[in-house]
Amino acid sequence: MALVRAARSSFRRSGGAIGNYASERNIFCEGISPLRHPAPVFEKAVTGFNSSYIPSTQMINQLSFGNRGMKFTPQYQFPHAEAQTVGGSDSKNERSSYPGLEATKQGEKPRVVVLGSGWAACRFLKGIDTTMYDVVCIAPRNHMVFTPLLASTCVGTLEFRSVAEPVTQIQKALAKDPNSYFFLASCTGVDADKHEVYCQTVGDRGVSHEHYRFKVAYDKLVIASGAEPLTFGIKGVEEHAFFLREVQNAQEIRKKLLMNLMVSETPGISEEEKERLLHCVVIGGGPTGVEFSGELSDFIMRDVRERYAHVKNYIHVTLIEANEILSSFDVGLREYATKHLTKVGVRLVHGVVKEVHPDKIVLSDGSDVPYGLLVWSTGVGPSKFIKSLDIPKSPGGRIGIDEWLRVPSVEDVFAIGDCAGFLEQTGKPVLPALAQVAERQGKYLVKLFTDIGKQNGGKALSAKDITLGDPFVYKHLGSMATVGRYKALVDLRQAKGEKGVSLAGFMSWFIWRSAYLTRVISWRNRFYVAMNWGTTLIFGRDNTKIG
Ligand SMILES: Cc1cc2nc3c(=O)[nH]c(=O)nc-3n(C[C@H](O)[C@H](O)[C@H](O)COP(=O)(O)OP(=O)(O)OC[C@H]3O[C@@H](n4cnc5c(N)ncnc54)[C@H](O)[C@@H]3O)c2cc1C
Repeated sequence: MALVRAARSSFRRSGGAIGNYASERNIFCEGISPLRHPAPVFEKAVTGFNSSYIPSTQMINQLSFGNRGMKFTPQYQFPHAEAQTVGGSDSKNERSSYPGLEATKQGEKPRVVVLGSGWAACRFLKGIDTTMYDVVCIAPRNHMVFTPLLASTCVGTLEFRSVAEPVTQIQKALAKDPNSYFFLASCTGVDADKHEVYCQTVGDRGVSHEHYRFKVAYDKLVIASGAEPLTFGIKGVEEHAFFLREVQNAQEIRKKLLMNLMVSETPGISEEEKERLLHCVVIGGGPTGVEFSGELSDFIMRDVRERYAHVKNYIHVTLIEANEILSSFDVGLREYATKHLTKVGVRLVHGVVKEVHPDKIVLSDGSDVPYGLLVWSTGVGPSKFIKSLDIPKSPGGRIGIDEWLRVPSVEDVFAIGDCAGFLEQTGKPVLPALAQVAERQGKYLVKLFTDIGKQNGGKALSAKDITLGDPFVYKHLGSMATVGRYKALVDLRQAKGEKGVSLAGFMSWFIWRSAYLTRVISWRNRFYVAMNWGTTLIFGRDNTKIG
């Protein structure tokens, strides 16, 4: 049980101090060859992140802390928002005249504005003392996603609602307190001098409505807006591949998979077309790519064989990776994963994707890989919103923070989770893009805000002489990944190269499941997850295609 406890607090997703964006970008390398022979790293993948990915206007002098203002990017529109409807060229004056929440007055509680509803934001929101602060959460989705179990929803092992929890359930004050709110919107700009954020409501598939713009004044701002998938500028990825980051992505993947299975049974479809439709290709051999491949293989071995018997011999999974799969895991675990995946029918391929077409991928050696379903999982990088912020960045382009998770170039602004990284001057490494980092930063900030509040530093510009206490320290607790067929990997080393416990097999799978069941967001979700696992075991995965 001690192992379960240790694993429980660690989640999986490896890297320790090294598994950050830098390691995630080394995904592609030359040629299509057996995975045993690592090929040179794909140049585009490396430069794509560090230089071309970051516009030159964002090349900020990282040593300059003097830049107080953070007024920026009227042009920038967050992709979730339907920018064409509202345009994006409002001037500073126009933005100032938006309706919204004005600055708090004397005698009112200080207002904390939180951007995002992910791991970091929700951990912060869960703990914040709402007797001390009013809270406003602004995000383009109204729920938190329990990402470690997202891959399981793509094939019906779990239902979508089991991995999502509304943010107003996580912090009830958002729905109840007279001055606390959740706004379904994207933040499009920040004026740190005025202590205001500018936002735009977001659309939803098939549900059209007006897009409103508004502003919210803050006393303290917590930016926790996460990251975006890296595509390295490869042609066709955005248009044709599925990412796996949101529940909506998982819904689309499941729909496409079921569609392809059913369409491939249509009379008159050629053998070649059947092979293509039922070829599921995963790009990126990190934990997400591996777990998704394992889930697919489970789905094929148990459910496709029974329910799509006519086409069961046509369906295949290929995992394309540039270096080696699960590169941040212990060598023994990597070898185990490679053998296991091969045994359960996942074809592991070394390759560099050059471009993506609607029905095939072209690799850099000129070979074509036809596909029916393409899932892209090659790590994450700074979002357009983060890139648009005119403030010093950490190496890799995230918002630069100090040891207390403050954005030191501006007052009253904090950044946590995947969107933030320590500034070079702190001498600390940029932490990996992991839920366990985001969650612990959110938790740390709760305490910091309580301390600030107790010293009457909650209001805007009033925390200058506040004692902040101990800085944030991150200790990596280990990593886990499931590889399908009741097998998983548990790596409890603190960092790559260090000694520590590592396990693979059924026992690890049991630890993996126990850990996640106890970590799932709420009792409601815990109940759903346990029920879903039970029904999948007894009745198989749900293959109803709705919508
Ligand atoms: C499939 C998958 C599996 C994973 N498995 C693991 C695992 O097992 N263990 C682990 O440690 N990590 C795992 N991770 C990584 C982990 O999920 C991330 O590190 C974590 O979600 C980061 O938390 P965050 O709060 O910084 O960002 P997110 O959780 O991504 O949340 C970002 C939030 O910001 C919102 N937002 C975006 N733009 C704006 C804007 N302009 N204005 C306002 N809001 C905005 C988004 O809608 C979202 O609500 C996994 C990730 C994925 C995708």
